Amino acid sequence: MNIERKEKIAERLAQIPKLYRGIYDKAITGKSRKAAMHAQCLECCGWQIKEVFLCTSPQCPLYPYRPKSRVPQDAPESVPNEPGLKKSGRGVLQHG
Ligand code: SF4
Repeated sequence: MNIERKEKIAERLAQIPKLYRGIYDKAITGKSRKAAMHAQCLECCGWQIKEVFLCTSPQCPLYPYRPKSRVPQDAPESVPNEPGLKKSGRGVLQHG
């Protein structure tokens, strides 16, 4: 990875809420397409997971891949209720 890309990634990472930095890390290193799709949705929605669930752009190519909207009304914003996503001890979304 060249220095310019590393610097840009570090700059972006510093702007991301700590809760979602793991997803971004996994996505940006190319280790998980699923993490990349979810990180993109989170970024699109200002890193507000509930906004991703409420996405109103069914025409977006990522729409079928975003975290689904099966979340109880009172669920904390960092807890997805989607098979395949696990919550770590710190409330971070993790992709298998
Ligand atoms: S599916 Fe919705 S939340 Fe995800 S990138 Fe597209 S518009 Fe944004």
